[in-house]
Order: sequence, then structure tokens, then C-alpha cells
Amino acid sequence: VPDPAMPDHPPVPVSDAPRWRDVVPTPALVLDRDALDHNIALMAVACREAGVALRPHAKTHKCSRIAARQIAAGACGIACATLDEAEVMVAAGLPGVLITSPLVGAGKPERLARLAARAPDLLVVADHPDAVAALDRAAAAAGVRLGVLVDADIGHHRTGVAGPAEAVALARAIAARPALRFAGVQGYAGHIQHIGNVDARRSAAAAAAGQLAAVVTALTAAGLRPAIVTGAGTGTHRFDAAGPFTELQAGSYTVMDAEYGAVDYAAGEPWPFRPALAVAVTVVSANVPGQVTTDGGTKAFALNGPLPRIADGPLAGAAYAFRGDEHGCVTLPTGAAAPSPGTVLTCTVPHCDPTIAHYDAVHVVHGDRLVDVWAIDARGRRA
Ligand code: PLP
Ligand code: MN
Repeated sequence: VPDPAMPDHPPVPVSDAPRWRDVVPTPALVLDRDALDHNIALMAVACREAGVALRPHAKTHKCSRIAARQIAAGACGIACATLDEAEVMVAAGLPGVLITSPLVGAGKPERLARLAARAPDLLVVADHPDAVAALDRAAAAAGVRLGVLVDADIGHHRTGVAGPAEAVALARAIAARPALRFAGVQGYAGHIQHIGNVDARRSAAAAAAGQLAAVVTALTAAGLRPAIVTGAGTGTHRFDAAGPFTELQAGSYTVMDAEYGAVDYAAGEPWPFRPALAVAVTVVSANVPGQVTTDGGTKAFALNGPLPRIADGPLAGAAYAFRGDEHGCVTLPTGAAAPSPGTVLTCTVPHCDPTIAHYDAVHVVHGDRLVDVWAIDARGRRA
């Protein structure tokens, strides 16, 4: 099995690489390199053509090797949900790290300031004056000037200031702090990314973007024109490219999942992004007629998406169910032969981000060959 430290394109021809089904212990993540690169290139081109920057979200993959491919394809930086993710991306030498969650809690502003000493372009959002004060104290103590964006609530009701007046007040508080720099505004409409009907999603995106535009207008009128206007996910990226966003934070497009598969892209058009990721499982028992049991249970998949299905091969589309923490069950379609114990099957990924966060590594494949293994290096501490 290739070492995680080995280069993306090993000097051995693909045909000399092992067949991944022969060498990968399951349950395991299997990533199709061509599909991944297709998705990365397609989003990069879509943003470039729309005249908007792309700062893809690393919460999806938590993998600096994938983030590096996104940067190489033209992304202006990498969005991170946690300080852990940001520390890993900075350590990997990646530019333009933006932490999209307000950082509140013991020791976090100090850790962030230490990270900023190594990454002068590090950015973070805030949505409360107390957090701004804590960031300023930590940045001053570390001798850095930290770029801070106002996080605005545009309907998700998760984080963010309530509206334009609150955004102006917080931007003024940031600008007044000697160790901080007002860097822009964020509005993330997480509640609308998975609206299945494309027309309903388009109008919800227009309403959310309108709320963010009102914030931008108020900031500009107050003399605090935001240089960065950031937000958006895979579900709304096409609509958000029209503004007021200067950059998009889409993440799931990188590998896609069953959750996005159930969302319409456009009327009569399939998603241009390909499902690049699967969970590989092994048949471990086949004694009950009409079904087989695998080694992929509730510990192998995120549980906040649709149930997995068999992704390819003769059983493609077959239903999957959990039989406890360590086992899964495939219902065999009528007439289908039961695969014997030892057979490796691939399953669709219910929800990509939390599924990936279960694994230490992703097995990169080209056809049936294992060509690389990349560490999910930002998983683990979740802090
Ligand atoms: N931005 C923020 C703040 C997020 O929380 C997320 C995902 O939850 C994204 C961007 C990326 O969205 P998606 O994975 O739907 O592309
Ligand atoms: Mn998600």
C-alpha cells in the first residue's frame, strides 16, 4: 500500500499499481482521482468565468492534499470551520486560510493569534463585540495584526449579526481595535443549500443574497466598504456568483454525496460534478437468503443523510441498511446472485463531510488501481 507521504503521481505506471480491492482494508474511503480533478477544475472554471473568486471549504475533506489541488487549480485560499483545520492547512503551506466560524472559547483567540504569526494572511469571522475584544487582546499579545470579517446572519440563524445596523457597529468595533483589521463580511445561507427544487432554491438564494447586499450597502455608506464578501455553498454557487459575493466557499462539490444527489441542479440537467467518493465495505457473511452482511455499520457512515446504496458493479443501486455499529446489510435485488464473503463492494456516501471525518485516510484510485493514499490530516481533535 502506498505511503501517505508519497507523491501524487508515483513514477510507477498505473498498470503496475495494485488493484485497490486486493489491498485496501475495509471499511475505507475510496476516492476516484479523475472525478475529483474533474470537480475541482469545473468549479474553478465556473468561478473564473463568473468573475468571482473561489475559497473552497476544507470542512468537506479535511485533507491538505485535496486543498493543495484546489489551490493549484486557482482557488484564492481555503475556508476552514475549525482552528484545527486552519492549523493543518497553514502547516501544509497553503495560503489564504479563512476561519468561517466565530472563534469563542478558552484559549482559542490565543491559538489563533499564534497561527497568524505564521500566516499573516489568516482571516477569521466574528459576530459579537466581546469576541472582537478577545481577538484584539490575543493579537496584540502575539504582536500580529489580524484580519477580521463581520459574520452576518442571512437567514440561517446559526451565527452572524442580525442585520445591517449591527454589522456596521461590529465593523466599527473591529476597525477601532489596533491589533485588528476590518477585512470584509461573510453571509452563509446553510439552510437553503439542499432545497431540492431548483427554482425554489434560486429564489431563496436571491432573498439571502439581498440581505447580504443590504449589509454591504450599509457598510459602504458608513465608510467601511468590505473588500471581501464571502459565503455560498455547492447548492447555491451558480446563483451566488452573480453577487454581492466576491468569493464563494463551496465545499461538497469536491466529492459530492447522496444528499446533493437528491437535489436538482437545473431543470432537466444533471449535476456537472461527479460523485468522486465511495465507502468500500467487505461482505463478511452470506447465510441469510436475499441479503449479505458487510463490515460497514454506523461507525463507517455519517447518519445525517440518506441511507447508502451500492454504488457500482452488478449490485449497483441495491439498498443498504445498518445492522449495528460494525455491520451493514445489502438487500439483494430479485434474482441477483449473492456475493461471497470477501467480496468488496462500494457504497454511496450519505453526507460527505461527516463521513470523511470518520476516516484517517482516503484511498486514491484510478480505475481499479490504488495510486495514492492521502491523510485526512485535519480530522481528529475537532476543536
Ligand atoms: N461555508 C460554510 C460556512 C459552511 O458551513 C459550509 C458547509 O456547511 C460551506 C461553506 C460549504 O457548503 P457545501 O458543502 O454545501 O458546498
Ligand atoms: Mn455538509
